[in-house]
Formats: sequence, C-alpha cells, structure tokens
Amino acid sequence: MTLLEVKNLKTYFHTKGGSVKAVDNVSFKLGKGEVLGLAGESGCGKTTTCLSIMQMVDFPGEIMEGQIMYENAFEVIDEDRKKSLRDRILNRNPGNEKRTRNLLEFSEAEMRRIRGNHISMVFQGAMNALNPVHRVGNQILEVLNIHEPELEKEDAWDKVIDILETVGIDSARARDYPHQLSGGMKQRALIAMALVNNPDIVIADEPVTALDVIVQSQVLKATKELQRKFDLSMIMITHDLSVIAEVCETLAIMYAGKLVEYGDLRTLFKEPFHPYTQALINAFPSITGPKKDLFDIGGSPPDLRNPPEGCRFHPRCPKVMPICSKKIPSETPIKNGFVACWLYEEEEK
Ligand code: SF4
Repeated sequence: MTLLEVKNLKTYFHTKGGSVKAVDNVSFKLGKGEVLGLAGESGCGKTTTCLSIMQMVDFPGEIMEGQIMYENAFEVIDEDRKKSLRDRILNRNPGNEKRTRNLLEFSEAEMRRIRGNHISMVFQGAMNALNPVHRVGNQILEVLNIHEPELEKEDAWDKVIDILETVGIDSARARDYPHQLSGGMKQRALIAMALVNNPDIVIADEPVTALDVIVQSQVLKATKELQRKFDLSMIMITHDLSVIAEVCETLAIMYAGKLVEYGDLRTLFKEPFHPYTQALINAFPSITGPKKDLFDIGGSPPDLRNPPEGCRFHPRCPKVMPICSKKIPSETPIKNGFVACWLYEEEEK
C-alpha cells in the first residue's frame, strides 16, 4: 500500500544570480513499512526534497510545482474544509471517501498537525540539533505536549521515559543535559523525539554521519529494530551507501536535483543501470572481494542555476552519447523501478 507519493516535485531557490533548481521534477512512492534510501552527492537535492515534503523550505526557497499525496491526510484537515471536500468527493464518487490528499494544498495550521504526528524528521547533526540549555527529557516532552496537550503531566512524562527506554537510553538520563550524553545517545534521543507521537513516516537526514563507525552500527541496528517494531515507513537520506545497504529496501539515486534511478535495493546493488549509480557503487570499497582501485567520478556537480542541457550528468558521464547533451532522458521502466538514461531508451540515439 502506498502511503506517500511525491509527484513531479519542483523546489527552487531564488537568488540574485538566478533560480537554483534544487529539486527538479522528482517523483517516487513510499509504501507502508518500507524503508527508502535517498542517496547522492552533497547538494544533489536530497534534503530539499524531504524539507519540501514537510513544507519546511525557507525563503528564498519555493515549492514551484508538484503534488505530495499522503494516504492519511484527510483526518487532519480543518473541519469546515473537510466537510466541503467530503461533499465534493462523495458527490463525484458516492460511497468512496478518499483519504489521500495533496499536502501542498494544506494550510500551515493543517501542516502543523502533520509534522511530528504523521510525518516526523530526524535532523542532521545530533551534536547541534538538541537545545544545550534544556534537559533531554524536557525537550521530548515539549514535542509531545504540542501534539497531545490533553495528556496529564505524569502520563506525558511516563511516555517520555517509555520512548527513551525504547531507543535504548536509561530513564535516569532523561534529566541529563545534551552535553552529558555521548554522540550515539544524542542521536538516539533525536530518534526518540521523532517517534514520541507515533508517526506513520520518519525522515532521517544523515542520521549517523557525525558518529564513529561502531556507534553508527549500533544506531543503525536500533533504527532498524524500531522501524520493524512500529512498522514505520522511513526515508533515509544519506551519501553513504553502506548505511543504505544496512537498513533500506528500496533505493533512489539523485543527481543534480533529479532522480536518475529508482528501484529495489538488491537489484540496484547487483546490477545498477545508470552510469552515475554504477560510478557510486564502484567508488565504494568491497570488504570481501579482491582489492582494486576505487573509481573516481571525475569533475564536479553542475551549477544548478544553469544546469547542463539534456542529461545533467553528461559532462561527467563515461558513456555519454550525442543525444545526452540535447534532450532530457525520460524515466524508462527497469526491474522494479526506473532509470533516466538514454542508454535504455528506445528512441533513435
Ligand atoms: Fe550518461 Fe547519457 Fe545516460 Fe546521461 S543519458 S547517464 S550522459 S549515457
């Protein structure tokens, strides 16, 4: 069952030098209980895509076009609007009250009910994401109070302790300040904050980047256990393919604001289609296979104020063809997904 569907999303940042096309026509689906990895080099639009889902893109950013269809959106809509929508939907399609709505049509008040309650985010940089002058437990309590103000003080505190223990933090540490926790514990506290309101979807933005490899592995293991326990849908943003390999089932590769390949993780790791995905995987050292030189993707990502014509990867692509610099490749279906590359299109090259 599809829980979230992003359709043709475009988010631009308007600067004096022109509009930066940070997310340009991105589409993907997220199923119930699915963990999707969103990977690519820094600046390729991964975080902006997810901030657009949450509608947290700050000025000078703007969501220009697209739809973000969320399955359980209907219940948060303001009562008046819900009534008129319900009437319209039922008039058009009697007996079928569709729950999926486009989040981009939601008011800020409605989005506040979505954020945290239905879709929550674990932000980048556990070291800085917590407020240094408030106790960790109180920071989680604050998030809980925003969405469940009717909870009695004691019940709310019990819930905070419960969620801290669920993520593997001893209840006694709830009264600690962030500087008293290790990096791994801070990251777990942020995960607890994202889970405390029982969301359907958690977006984790580079959740283990700042941690050493041993703590990384512990946090990833805990994340996977929690995801299974709560049957969460997750989007894991990372530039580290080893993180994706550990927790994700599907993989979406972004390059210069576009989704270039999307599909099931095993298939893409075994047989990547897009030259950029192939390069990313070849740039990753194998622990078990024979030693070989790592592949270096020459050049650097383009200036997104003025991206290259045609395929945006063409100035760096080892398989570039004449058509690549002229026309944008469309999304060609492959095993359980798609690839945007002229190598796989039927049209005359
Ligand atoms: Fe390379 Fe052309 Fe495919 Fe782009 S469309 S990845 S330039 S072969």
